[in-house]
Amino acid sequence: PSFPNNNSPHCTMSHHSKGSSSRKRPARQDIQEQRRALPIASAEKKLVEEVLKNDTLVVIGETGSGKTTQLPQFLHAGGFCERGRIGITQPRRVAAVTVAARVAEEMEVDLGQEVGYSIRFEDTTSAATVIKYLTDGMLLREALLDPLLHNYSVIIVDEAHERTIHTDVLLGLLKAVQKRRKAVKQEPVTETRQFDSSKRTAISKHSENCNQARISHLKLVVMSATLDAEGFSQYFDNARTVYIQGRQYLVDILYTYQPEPDYLDAVLITIFQVHLEEKAGNVLVFLTGQEEIEAVERLLLERSVHLPVGSLKLTVAPIYAALPCNQQMQVFKTTPRGSRKVILATNIAETSVTIPGVCYVIDPGLVKARIFNPRAGVESLSVMPVSKAQALQRSGRAGRERPGKCFRLYTEDTFYKLEDASIPEIKRCNLASVVLQLKALGIDDILCFDFMDKPSSTAIRKSLEHLYILGALTDEGKLSDPLGFQMSRFPVEPLYAKAVIISCEYKCSAEMLGLVAMLSVESIFYQPRGKLEEAKAAKQRFLCADGDHITLVNVLCAYVSEVEKTGNGHVPGKGNSRWCKENFINGRSLRRALDIYRQIERYLPGMGLSTVSCVEEWMLFCRCLTAAFFLNTARRQPDGSYRAMSSGQTVFVHPSSVLFGKKPDCLIYNELVCTTRHYIRNVTRIDSAWLPELASQYFVTKLAA
Ligand code: ADP
Ligand code: MG
Repeated sequence: PSFPNNNSPHCTMSHHSKGSSSRKRPARQDIQEQRRALPIASAEKKLVEEVLKNDTLVVIGETGSGKTTQLPQFLHAGGFCERGRIGITQPRRVAAVTVAARVAEEMEVDLGQEVGYSIRFEDTTSAATVIKYLTDGMLLREALLDPLLHNYSVIIVDEAHERTIHTDVLLGLLKAVQKRRKAVKQEPVTETRQFDSSKRTAISKHSENCNQARISHLKLVVMSATLDAEGFSQYFDNARTVYIQGRQYLVDILYTYQPEPDYLDAVLITIFQVHLEEKAGNVLVFLTGQEEIEAVERLLLERSVHLPVGSLKLTVAPIYAALPCNQQMQVFKTTPRGSRKVILATNIAETSVTIPGVCYVIDPGLVKARIFNPRAGVESLSVMPVSKAQALQRSGRAGRERPGKCFRLYTEDTFYKLEDASIPEIKRCNLASVVLQLKALGIDDILCFDFMDKPSSTAIRKSLEHLYILGALTDEGKLSDPLGFQMSRFPVEPLYAKAVIISCEYKCSAEMLGLVAMLSVESIFYQPRGKLEEAKAAKQRFLCADGDHITLVNVLCAYVSEVEKTGNGHVPGKGNSRWCKENFINGRSLRRALDIYRQIERYLPGMGLSTVSCVEEWMLFCRCLTAAFFLNTARRQPDGSYRAMSSGQTVFVHPSSVLFGKKPDCLIYNELVCTTRHYIRNVTRIDSAWLPELASQYFVTKLAA
């Protein structure tokens, strides 16, 4: 891509005071020096006082100023842990993991002792943990067992500006919890377990704490980066707000002259352009997801062998949610002299994590997001343009340590056409999961819940309807027993939770658990550009002509037997990775899927369910798929196209599907992807005659209408 040269007029970021620019070594003493140099350091006393004085405090500060890593330590030193834990919620798993590791290092304790994290499918905390980083979704789950969150003396809702669906629900819930804890001095023990029934409560980890005496007040801190920070104080009855002065160096912003036809290509060219022409300094590239990151990573490594002798060494560090923890930490390693690190990140690096040494940002201006159309009742994963606020935030990442440059891979005109700010997720997502959890928390009147931004009543009604169709709600709109209760306990989407629960009846829960685990990770198969044919041949080994679901289960089964053979379940780089390589399987994704399988499986016994295999009687499995996913059915039309039955939308089988080019009469799918067309992914053919039988309450009315 061609960028205007550096002397041309460009936008600049504001310029505050300069910080120390000493070289960073990860020595103990150095870490303490780094802490003291953070903008937030001088505000320690003030922050502790403000939290003491105010029940709710809003803290707003530039990204990288030290909010996430330091404030919990300040409060810990200020004695707030004496009567309960400090919980810090993060919208992103990666942030919870990496920040907890960092804070443990700063406090010189082992991770899992005083400092720990808890994310879906992984909990490192122990009885000793007083500073607990967790995803906002996990705190919502804890609230199911401990509705007044008595384990916590302080809850910090971090990255509130992200306005994820879980953050928004949490804000509403915490507001209510705070009022209730203020009103009641000492809660009777029974109150903390509204739905106590040994049969229903799968996890009872926190119950031992329920008998302890408790403090009544809950301190709440809402932390936000500077973007979209208005509104929090107002929502919390004009809560006090503290601003942390950040520092930001000048960032040159460069646009392309023309729109880029292929932004990944533009990304690669720009990386090498920066690498060959610019001074030392790391490069941060914003990509939309794991698949894209892995593709760019491969191409970069391939092409970097052709770099001229004498140029800086180029290293690549990916960071995205599904990356195993030890590899996530790699991006924080100091870049050795004479080399340059290229960080390939998802939106994670926008505000959640700050990676040291970044001077160049490459921003294609895109982000992957879930979008829900409540009228049609369909949710899809789409790549869409970022907002102006996000673009500014991304470019700011180049100017944290010294002046930097940001390469926007789009035209200046395009920038001015972007939306000012992104719409909160709660206004554009499927609410089913959240509504189910609120119901499980005893909040029955969802339409009257005190949301900071209310979702449309159409969206709420649609999600209630959805849950009703799935059988999670009764005619009165209450959680059904046992299905609704069970569904609310599983740490997966309601649709998947139901699939697992009913698969026990269909005698194929082992396969369904496997499927749900495989659907929870991205990109199992990879197809490197030069080896497309080989990769396709490898996929044939697992292929099932009925569709992608069984194919995925086959891959997992083959992997498990390989693991059992070699005994290398969790040792990356050992025998299994050769197997993965030979079969063109993404080892990282598969290891994670197996982990998820084991995690979900643990919920079964507590609900009186168990793992059974259909032993390749695939008809049972396909019937179970139908009974679980009947809402995602597509029928072939006379002209050969497919129509989604729930929305009436025309859809296309994704080219990556086993069934691409085949034309079965009736399909079940799991994912709708919108690019140039509406594609359905993860598709299996079924017998349409099963529908009225296995989903009668839905199809009898549907067919009559
Ligand atoms: P904020 O929350 O205000 O954005 P953080 O507390 O996340 O700021 O970051 C403060 C500093 O800590 C940053 O300079 C960042 O580079 C550093 N940091 C955070 N996590 C790590 C880590 N895992 N390894 C090394 N440095 C880290
Ligand atoms: Mg932060």
